[in-house]
Amino acid sequence: MKNDNNRKISAWGMLPHEWKPIFSEMGLPGYRAEQVNVALHRNLITSWQDATTLSKELRAALAEKFSIEPLKIVNTHESSDNVVKLLLECDDGERIESVLIPSRGRITQCISSQAGCAFGCAFCASGMHGLIRNLSAAEIVAQVVSACRLLRSRSSESTPEVQSAPRPGNIVVMGMGEPFTNYENVLKALRILNDQRGINIGARHITVSTCGVVPGIEQFAREGVQFELSVSLHAPTDTLRNQIMPVNHRWPVSELLRACKQYTSNTGRIVTYEYTLISNFNDRPEHADALIKLLKNQHCKVNLIPLSPVAGFVGQPPDHIQALRFLDKLHKARLNVTMRKSRGKDVNAACGQLRFKSETKK
Ligand code: SAH
Repeated sequence: MKNDNNRKISAWGMLPHEWKPIFSEMGLPGYRAEQVNVALHRNLITSWQDATTLSKELRAALAEKFSIEPLKIVNTHESSDNVVKLLLECDDGERIESVLIPSRGRITQCISSQAGCAFGCAFCASGMHGLIRNLSAAEIVAQVVSACRLLRSRSSESTPEVQSAPRPGNIVVMGMGEPFTNYENVLKALRILNDQRGINIGARHITVSTCGVVPGIEQFAREGVQFELSVSLHAPTDTLRNQIMPVNHRWPVSELLRACKQYTSNTGRIVTYEYTLISNFNDRPEHADALIKLLKNQHCKVNLIPLSPVAGFVGQPPDHIQALRFLDKLHKARLNVTMRKSRGKDVNAACGQLRFKSETKK
C-alpha cells in the first residue's frame, strides 16, 4: 500500500518472504529478512529505530521506504460484556470498524475487507451506503496490528519485546464488506496473518464469510488453503432470499449450494451456513423444514443468529422460545447446528457488519 501522505510502502502488506529480494537488491544477506519479520510481527515495533538487531544505516534505509504505521484508532467503545469496538482510520481518512470479542481465554477479532459494501442485504448496516472502496492487504492486516498494539498497551507486562501480550487468536472476516469481491487483497492479508514468521494465527482460526459470491467460493475451493468458509444463507428458498439479499438474483440458492458442495468435495472442508433469524419472516416451522430439506445431504454446520435490529430495516429478532424451537427442529433432524448470542450490543458492535457473538452450544 502506498501511503498518500508520505509515499511510503506499508510494511504490513508484505508477505514475510517478500523481504528477501528487497535485501538481496541491497546486497544484504537473507537472514536480515527474518530479523525484520521478528521485529515487525513478533515484537510489534512502533518505530524502525526499535529494530535493534539491524544496523543503524539499515534502519534508516527501511524507515525511508517502508511505513509501519498501523491504522489510527479514532475511537474505542467497550461494552459491558467486554466487547471492544474499534473505529479505525485509513490514510485517506476513510473510516472502518473492527471488533474484539474475548471468549474463553481467546480474543476473536472481526475485521473489515472493504469500506462499505455493494451488496445491500436488507438487514445489514454496512451496505446501506453502498461500496466506498476495497481495502488493501496492508489495511486489512493493519487492523490486527492496531488491535495487537492496543492489547499490548493494556497489558500489564508491556515492554518493547512483549511476546506474551494478548493477541487475537481467531480472525473472522465478517466486518464491513464482501471479502470475495476484494479476493486478492483479502487472501494476501490472511496469508500474512497466518504465516509462521508473521502474526502466526492458525489457518483453522481464520474464517472468511461471503454473502454468496459463487465465483469467489469456486476460487477459494482451488486455493489450497485451510481457512474456514462461512456462507450467509439466511433463507432456505429463492422467494424468501430474494426479498432480503439482492445477491440471490445473481446466484440463486441452487447455484450457491452447488458451489458449496463442490467446495466440500474439493477441499474436504465443511461450510458453515449463517442463518439470521428474523421474526415471522424465516423463523417458522415451515422454514426450518425447508432448511432441513435443503441441507440434509450435505456435510455442513448451521449457525443460527437472532437478528440484531438495525435502523432502516423493519425486521425484528424472534422471541427466545421461537428461536429455540427452530434450533430444536434442526437439531432433531440431525443437522450440526448452534445458536449464537449477540454480544457487544451496548456499543452497537452487534449490529449489521459488526455483529458479534459468542457461541452457545445447545
Ligand atoms: N459480506 C460477508 C461478510 C460481512 S457480514 C457476508 O455477507 O457474509 C457478516 C455477517 O453478519 C453475515 O452473515 C451477515 O449476514 C450478518 N449480519 C449482517 N447484518 C446483521 C444483522 N443485523 N443481524 C445479524 N446478523 C447480521
